[in-house]
Amino acid sequence: MQGMNGKKFWRLIWGNHTKLHVWEKCLVFDLFCVCLVSGAVMSGIGNMGGENEGILATAQIHEDTQEETKKVALTFDDGPHPQYTPEMLAALKERDVKATFFLLGEEVEKHPEIVKQIHEQGHLIGNHSYKHEQLSKLTMEQACAQVSRTNELVYEITGTYPSYIRPPFGDWQDKLDCEVNMVEVLWDVDTLDWSSQNHAQIVNKVLKNVQENDIILMHDGYETSVTAAGEIIDTLKKQGYEFVTVDEILFD
Ligand SMILES: [Zn+2]
Repeated sequence: MQGMNGKKFWRLIWGNHTKLHVWEKCLVFDLFCVCLVSGAVMSGIGNMGGENEGILATAQIHEDTQEETKKVALTFDDGPHPQYTPEMLAALKERDVKATFFLLGEEVEKHPEIVKQIHEQGHLIGNHSYKHEQLSKLTMEQACAQVSRTNELVYEITGTYPSYIRPPFGDWQDKLDCEVNMVEVLWDVDTLDWSSQNHAQIVNKVLKNVQENDIILMHDGYETSVTAAGEIIDTLKKQGYEFVTVDEILFD
């Protein structure tokens, strides 16, 4: 092998293995091993890259899942109440939650400053008639007056006409044909908070029954409703729920 040039060496390797000396065979074997190890390392790096991509993709999916929060809407009827509506507003603000308040025209007249506060805190204001009357038992003209009078009162304070109505007792006259079209909003979970006025019962009623995109019916006229709303928010947030106004449930 002394003085062998490169051409001859390769001819020896590829052309006639049988003519190689033992040490030459070892050299070829070593070269083969180096190639094999290099290949393995390269493919290993490639695979590691693949695994990293896999981990990143998993993280991305996890992140996407977390972003897809379940929506739920808290709604409060019959206000504004001089004591408990401001307390409810404070509880909502503390938790950075927006809700929907269906107001009675006659209470709006009595407490315009609270209506202004509801509006300024970014909550949605809906119409709950003027005097909490069962609209289907009124004449068309009387029922429409209950709606439009309340709309005007809210507009005077907030500069915005309500678009949503929750008819008292959930009783909407199907053929009610007022000048202004309103979107009727009922509910999925009735807390019966006005009846029980029991913190634990109100909370349990919601936690047992709530599902994604549900509208929860409460009243902002009771201390127990304020404390229960706080606990409902804290618990459902931990379960991945996001609190939105009813328009986001109905139209998103
Ligand atoms: Zn009501």
